Amino acid sequence: MLGSSRRPTSIAVLTSGGDAAGMNAAVRAVVRTGISAGLTVYAVSEGFQGLVDGGDCIRRITSDGVGGILQRGGTVLGTARCQEFRERDGRRRAARNLAELGIEALAVIGGDGSLTGANQLCTEWPELLDELADRGELDREIADARRRLVLVGLVGSIDNDMAGTDMTIGADTALHRITEAIDAIQSTASSHQRSFVIEVMGRNCGYLALMSGIATGANFVFLPESPPDDGWPDTMAEALKAGRAIGRRSNIVVVAEGARDRHGEPITAQQIRNILEEKLGEDTRVTSLGHVQRGGSPSAFDRYLSTVLGFAAVEKILSSPDAEPQLIGIRGHQIISSPLMQNVETTQSVAKVIAEHDYERAMEIRGGNFRNSLDLIKMMVQAQPHETAPEERRLRLAIMHAGGPAPGMNTAVRVAVRVGLDLGHTMLGIRDGFRGLVEGNFTMFEWMTVSSWVANGGAELGSSRFLPDESNLDAIEQHITEQELDGILMIGGFTGYSGAYLLRQAAATRPALSIPIVCLPASINNDLPGSELSVGADTALNSIVRDVDKIKQSAVASQRTFVVEVMGNQCGYLALMSGLATGAERVYLPEEGITLRDLQVDVEALSAGFTRGKRLGLVIRSEKADEVYTTSFIKALFEREGGDLFDVREAVLGHVQQGGSPSPFDRIQATRLASSSIRRLIDVANLTEPTGLMAGLRHGKVHFTPLNDLPHLMEPDARRPRRQDWLDLRPLAVVMAGRSTPATG
Ligand code: ADP
Repeated sequence: MLGSSRRPTSIAVLTSGGDAAGMNAAVRAVVRTGISAGLTVYAVSEGFQGLVDGGDCIRRITSDGVGGILQRGGTVLGTARCQEFRERDGRRRAARNLAELGIEALAVIGGDGSLTGANQLCTEWPELLDELADRGELDREIADARRRLVLVGLVGSIDNDMAGTDMTIGADTALHRITEAIDAIQSTASSHQRSFVIEVMGRNCGYLALMSGIATGANFVFLPESPPDDGWPDTMAEALKAGRAIGRRSNIVVVAEGARDRHGEPITAQQIRNILEEKLGEDTRVTSLGHVQRGGSPSAFDRYLSTVLGFAAVEKILSSPDAEPQLIGIRGHQIISSPLMQNVETTQSVAKVIAEHDYERAMEIRGGNFRNSLDLIKMMVQAQPHETAPEERRLRLAIMHAGGPAPGMNTAVRVAVRVGLDLGHTMLGIRDGFRGLVEGNFTMFEWMTVSSWVANGGAELGSSRFLPDESNLDAIEQHITEQELDGILMIGGFTGYSGAYLLRQAAATRPALSIPIVCLPASINNDLPGSELSVGADTALNSIVRDVDKIKQSAVASQRTFVVEVMGNQCGYLALMSGLATGAERVYLPEEGITLRDLQVDVEALSAGFTRGKRLGLVIRSEKADEVYTTSFIKALFEREGGDLFDVREAVLGHVQQGGSPSPFDRIQATRLASSSIRRLIDVANLTEPTGLMAGLRHGKVHFTPLNDLPHLMEPDARRPRRQDWLDLRPLAVVMAGRSTPATG
């Protein structure tokens, strides 16, 4: 076939279907990666309508053309539902417009409908060109030369309803909107002791309802995939009544718009409200969140996700031009690529099996995480634990923090306490980290102690950076013995890991210390071994991104460079990720250090940029990137060297990064990690040989690493893990900065 195996030289990008936050970041990534690979890049406005109409709707675009769009919600390219594209005539016109411009590849960002349409175009492509040539609407020569249209799909959909990727573009931002709204409603609901029914989007997919339910501690959820058993009105009313009886001040019911009962009859928010008013005699209000869920500036995760997917999409087009159309997705931190139509078909089959009332199959297709989350929420919403006798003996388990506060710590404690109690064990808290263990500062947890903890920032239990040493071991031994502890769950940062390691080592000679310990990674720095992500990092990233967006806006009219210092200790995760999410042109990381040569090159690049008309510069420096070249030093250097071309301001973001209500992602990860960690602690506490473990996420799944490995997993001279997969994103940050361009963002 003519042209086969040759890499495409031009590409067009479009957004289609429902808009989703992050689409702009994906467009920006496709454009900048394409241009840096030497491709001619076109942007198509108004989705498939633009392809059909051609003309001004398909424009060449430069790196600058996608500046300043990263932080914008929706899609700046526009999107439209296009009836004509469903017909062959429409697609033929689209083919002609593409072929005439010599466009050989298409990156489509949309939902399953859009991806189906794009695939159709791609499949029919050679025939469409022949038809055009036969009708005299396209040069035969052009038709013969362009026998192939390479297609990659990225899923833009707030529902997170697509096979082939763990997350779709826009879903995390939608969860932010929903979580903010439910948190706000929660406070008014508990003030008035009211019940609220909240309707969220999701016709055939309960992801948003389920995850927002987990993230907000909702008291009942209704999903399309898992209808409640018959008699649900009574079950729901009883459960909510029982909650009130033991002191719960608010009732929140989350219902997906496509929720239904076992017979396929819709369950609506109004219907739930009527049932609650009748059976509970309570003032009940309905809030339908509607289009608020789609809107607003994309979350840090959506900006990151879209950026890596856009980058990978162009790489795929260049590396495998002859492959069948691919869908680019993410699994954990890994980018994956799989046949587009296979994923579309799997996705569409869920709607089909739901329509056939085959809910078991629907849950199977959704996968393990979805089912586990549903089981977890069912357990969490119980008013109090059922009278379970533990399978083996009743254990006394303690939870503690250590290290700096990380948003999500409280969420993790809440889940661990309730899972532990639900399994029939006694749950205690140790206050203020290892200091509390040395001083014997314990507290007893009841089911309702942690009732409102899910959304609280900080650490209700208290934390400290105090690290015990030999001199504290007698006291620790005494308290562990007195309290008859069978295990400890440490939810915290490196101080906690080091303290736990020390206790485990000391156990060799002090049998009373010989109890199992599980460490759960919670640190905004994301500098802990055994996990690709720690709880708190996502909230910190969102906080940085919000602040940097504002800082950038403050400088719209001036020629100014900002040097922003972010936290991270000796780990550059927050700096690199926030750089990617805010469009910084340079990030300085402790992993790389800073040289005078770097600074010289960077200041020259900035000067050259401002000379060409650039208005804003953004540099992010991790707080410990270099001992000598501090943020103030860099600011002073740039200011001097920038002369009249630009001025420089520094912004040290400081402790705001550690605070605030946890992001939905942190709440969800905290929930998953805490549930698995406490179960694992219970398992190992029943073994004769106690052990220490580090919980973590790898490829999006919870796994455990022996605590004994801690020293080998860390850099010898720095407080960060030897293996940091996120560093693979370094080259991408350079491409995204679009360094040769006059505008940043
Ligand atoms: P989403 O992409 O969000 O699922 P839609 O289902 O509305 O949104 O699809 C968006 C557009 O994709 C439609 O307006 C239409 O132009 C095109 N499209 C959808 N399904 C098909 C199809 N089967 N064949 C051709 N085009 C399609």
